[in-house]
Order: sequence, then structure tokens, then C-alpha cells
Amino acid sequence: MRFDIKCMLLIAISICLYTPSVFAQHTVSRIEGSNRYEVAVNTAKRGWQEAPAVVLVGGDAYADALSAVPYAYQQGAPVLLTNAGSLSGPLKTGLQQLKTKRVTILGGTASISENVVKQLKAMNLSVSRIQGKNRYELAANVAKHMKSASAAVVVNGSAYADAVAIAPYAAKQGYPILLTDAKGLREETANLLKNKAVKRTIVIGGEASINKMAFQKLPSPVRISGANRYEVAAQIAKTYPMMTSQTFISYGYAYADAAAAASIAAKQGQTLLLTDAQTVPDAIRKVIGAKQKSAFSVVGGTSTVQTNVITQLKNAVLGETIFIDPGHGAQDAGAIGNGLLEKNINLEVALKLQSRLNQAGALIVMSRTSDTFDSLQTRVNKGAQASADIFISIHANANDNSGANGTETYYDTTYAATNSIKLAQQVQPRMVSALGTKDRGVKTAGFYVIKYSRMPSILLETGFVTSPIDASILKSTTAKDRLASGIATGVSNYFDAK
Ligand SMILES: [Zn+2]
Repeated sequence: MRFDIKCMLLIAISICLYTPSVFAQHTVSRIEGSNRYEVAVNTAKRGWQEAPAVVLVGGDAYADALSAVPYAYQQGAPVLLTNAGSLSGPLKTGLQQLKTKRVTILGGTASISENVVKQLKAMNLSVSRIQGKNRYELAANVAKHMKSASAAVVVNGSAYADAVAIAPYAAKQGYPILLTDAKGLREETANLLKNKAVKRTIVIGGEASINKMAFQKLPSPVRISGANRYEVAAQIAKTYPMMTSQTFISYGYAYADAAAAASIAAKQGQTLLLTDAQTVPDAIRKVIGAKQKSAFSVVGGTSTVQTNVITQLKNAVLGETIFIDPGHGAQDAGAIGNGLLEKNINLEVALKLQSRLNQAGALIVMSRTSDTFDSLQTRVNKGAQASADIFISIHANANDNSGANGTETYYDTTYAATNSIKLAQQVQPRMVSALGTKDRGVKTAGFYVIKYSRMPSILLETGFVTSPIDASILKSTTAKDRLASGIATGVSNYFDAK
């Protein structure tokens, strides 16, 4: 009998702990392959059951791939890649699976040789080629094969990353992607703009990519720029929104994967964002948080997008702004007992929490990161200025009676009461199990920082410095590590359940 009850309890606890994350977690899928050629084929197969027409670019010729996406979109075709010298194996299989009949090659024989053409023709495919003396002329010639459009995108021909994120939007709108260099507006591009009577241009990249002189020569130009490729991609996502029901993500330094990703994102009308190999960059986190994106397709294998990025994309805390307020500081030591100063415990726990939530994909703002002091009002203001999604104030308790011990979480009902309670209920049990302290529960009290913060906010009392039991726990680094992990998990689960 006792055994049965234990079992049922265990089952009940597991269900309580794990159900929310299973059902509400972000969904992430990965489109991969053994090399860039197979990644492109597998991406095309995700978007096209059959592709009678495909656009082929050289797997080592990124400049050619830039202008391919809007053109391919107009042809209803995916963008695929090949070796320059001979047809790559995965591509050959892919063309058969996609029941392809026509291939348009973009680029000269240096990027795709005549031998490849011969091999394609041997497969009974009709082959045509669009080329140019250089990448600038190629882009202009590709644009000539597109329907006339009122606008065009202009990027630096040596900065492919700038073009990647705009490609799905440009494709959807029928805008060609034209190239220029750092020195000025290329003649090939200027002529095309004139001949096609393009009225507006979207310039992607800062003045180092497209200088003022080139910019001024363009018809009604607007410039999108940022400090790095991720900021540019984020800015594009904000300025030219696409659907967000399925966001495509590719590595910011792998143009081959990006061309395939842009091709499928264009077809599905979805946003394309770029990531670092090991972590989702802050600018991209912000877009993901602001747009409430929760479904992602990563294009590329683990050699370009590592597992850690997938883990971050799955975590519901990705892109959320968390304000962490380590209580007290400097001249205000807070509670004192058993050789402990509360201000130091609060800061240590807060810094550990900052690191864990940052690793999980959140954007963290701290009221303090060292032994400094802010008034309670300043702390509330800082949280508001950060437009934080939640506010967590970290404290330790004290009592005249050294027998008082345990962990508790406070919320206030003035603002965001419902979500504050939910947050408290996620964090409190995880603090208790991390520390092994007495569970004093979730309580309400009008502490200043949680009363006047308008976002969901909680105040944690991790333990009593005046209790010998709690103090020995709070002195332990491993206990504080576990505590930070427990709070971080509670925070993630709160966003999961939302
Ligand atoms: Zn305190």
C-alpha cells in the first residue's frame, strides 16, 4: 500500500513538473544534410513536392546566389547548388526526386562548368544560363529576366549577409537584388535602374558598404543598416515584416545555407533571421521576443548551427527581457547574521541567475552588478526603462528568532497580479527543491519594488541569514548554483505556460 501511494505521488509530481514544457515549448526543426548541396536539396524538398523549374548557382559563388532568390521566386523555383566541375551527387538525386524539367544556371563557367551543363542535359533536362562579365553585371542581367518592378534592393556585392535577410521580402515584392561596391555605384546597376525605370531603392548596409555618393545617385533610396549583420537582419525584420508563424534561421556566415533558406522563406512568405554558430545574437533575440515567434526551422547542420542554438530556440524565455534586482548594496547591507551580509548573497545569486538566463536565450537587465546602491524608486524606474517582461528582486530574510527559517516568494496585486502569482508559483517550489529549505510558500505583500513595477514581478526571500540552518546553505557555492538554476527553470516554465 505504501509502495502504491509513493508511485502515484511520483507520477503526479512528474506530470506537474513536465507537462507544461511538453505542450507549450517553442517548436524547432532542423533541415540538414551532409554538405551544402544536400542542405539545399533537403530545404527545397521541404517547400516543394515537385519543382519542374529550379535555379542553380555555384556552391562556391556566393555573389551569384545573392540575386538568385527573387528571380527563382518568380519562376516558382527553389535555389539549388552544385560543384563547379561536376554535378554533385545529392543534387542529381534531388533533381530526380523533385521531378525537375528545366534548370536555369546563374553565373559563368567559372562557377558552373560546361561539364555540369552536359551532365544536366544527359538527364534530359533543358538548361539555360544567365551570366555576366562580373557579379554586378550578372545581377543586372538576372533583373532583366524579371518582371518590371517599382523598387529594387541594392547591396554591396561583397557583403552577402546583408542581402540574405531581405531576400524573402524582395522576392515576395518582385524586387530584384542589385549589387554595388564600396567605391561607388556600379555602372551595371545604374544602367539597369534607368532602363527598368525603377522608382525606389532599398539600400542594405552602412556607409562602409554603400557610400554616400552611391546612395545619393540611387532613386528615392532608404537605408537599412546596423552595427553587425544580426542587427541588419533584425532591422529588416522590423521594417519589412513577413509572416512569423514559421521563422527560418540560418548561420550568418554560411551563404550557401542562407540562399536555400531565403528561397524557402520567400515561398512560404516567412521571416528569415541569422544566427551565430553557438548562440542566438542579442539583436535576433530582441526580434524573436518582440514578435512572439515560437516556431523555427533551422537551415544547416551542426557544423554551422550548433546544438546550443537549437536549445535556446526551444526555450520559451528566448528573447524575453528579464530585470534582475539584487536587493540592497553598498552602505545598505540588508539583513546580517551568521557572518553573512544579505547584499552579498543577493548579488551572488543574481549574477549566477543572470548567466543562466542569458545562456538560455533571455535578454537580461540588472539593477546592479557590483556592490553599489540604488533607491527602491530607481530600481523600479530601471525596470520600466528596460521594458522588462518580468521583474525579479532577490533578497534574503532575517528574524530576531534564529529558529525562523525557510524560503518564500512574494507578489503584489497592484499591477499584473495574475501573472505575478503564476511567476511566483513557478519559482517558489524550484527554489525550495534547489536549496532543501523549508517551504514557506507564495505570499502577498506590498514591497515597494514589486508594488510599483507594472510588469509581472516577484520578490524572492531565498533563506534566513539569521537561521544557522539557512545560513550554512546560503554560504555554499553549489547551493547558490542550484538555486540560480532552479529560478531560471521556473522563469522558463512561466513563459512556457503563457
Ligand atoms: Zn532584503
